[in-house]
Amino acid sequence: MPPNRKARRAAARRAPGGDGARLALWILLGIIILAFAAARLRPRGRAPRQAPASAPSASAPAAADRTARPAPARPASPAAPAPTPTRPPEPGFRCAIIIDDVGYSKAALQAFLDLDLPLNFAVLPQLALSKWAAQTAAGAGHTVMLHLPMEPEDPSQIRFMGPGGVLTEMPDDEIEARVIEDLESLGAPAGLNNHMGSKATADARVMKAVMRVLKDRGLFFVDSLTTGRSAAAETAREAGVPVGARDVFLDTDVDGQQGIRERILALIEQAEREGSAIGIGHARPGTARALGAAKDEFARRGVRLVSAGDLVVASE
Ligand SMILES: [Zn+2]
Repeated sequence: MPPNRKARRAAARRAPGGDGARLALWILLGIIILAFAAARLRPRGRAPRQAPASAPSASAPAAADRTARPAPARPASPAAPAPTPTRPPEPGFRCAIIIDDVGYSKAALQAFLDLDLPLNFAVLPQLALSKWAAQTAAGAGHTVMLHLPMEPEDPSQIRFMGPGGVLTEMPDDEIEARVIEDLESLGAPAGLNNHMGSKATADARVMKAVMRVLKDRGLFFVDSLTTGRSAAAETAREAGVPVGARDVFLDTDVDGQQGIRERILALIEQAEREGSAIGIGHARPGTARALGAAKDEFARRGVRLVSAGDLVVASE
């Protein structure tokens, strides 16, 4: 019995606080070590995969800023498509008004300058006042264009072309030299439109020669459209010259002030319909008066007056 008792005592000692407790401690320690190791392994294993995926997406802008590659790529791509569709309406309706036949009279130009409207002045070349008019208009912040005299269909009208005109009988090099001489008689005009020209603008060879000069000098062309058979748009596109065309003549074949006013309103309506429109008037006192009277109409209807260069369309 005594050995039994000893054995029982020993077993009793082991059971509550001896080997059993130690085993439990080792197991507990083992669990803690395993748990600790697992806790350290988990973030390491996932961190490289999760960080680039989650950080730039939404929750961590600071982390996205630091990671050089995703930061510029991600904010740019969601931001880029958003402003593009919202930008086109921003400019509103735009009109370019070109005043033709400038260069004969200081008073005629002054009447338009006094309106304090952004206009485009198409100045005839090689007249006594050509350079003065071009410089005065440009100095007042307006767009200056060469109003290139070009041959009309009606031979009896050729004498009204004035100096510096282009005729269809001229060879290419003479046309180019003439256009360059005309441009330089004004200083540095931004573009060109045709004075008369119902015959010359319908001649593709003539227009190609004109376009070569414009292309060389980075100038634009506005077709006055004095003929329905104009080759200007096609030759301009071929040459890579930005081109536009007159939509409304403001003061040709009209009846007095009311007639001009109706044309101005037609120009505004076209701009409202199509986004933009180009009007051509002439350096006449009546046209200046009518424009002055309609000045508030542009602002009231949200139509901005701009440079003709803003409304020409570049090819490609
Ligand atoms: Zn003209």
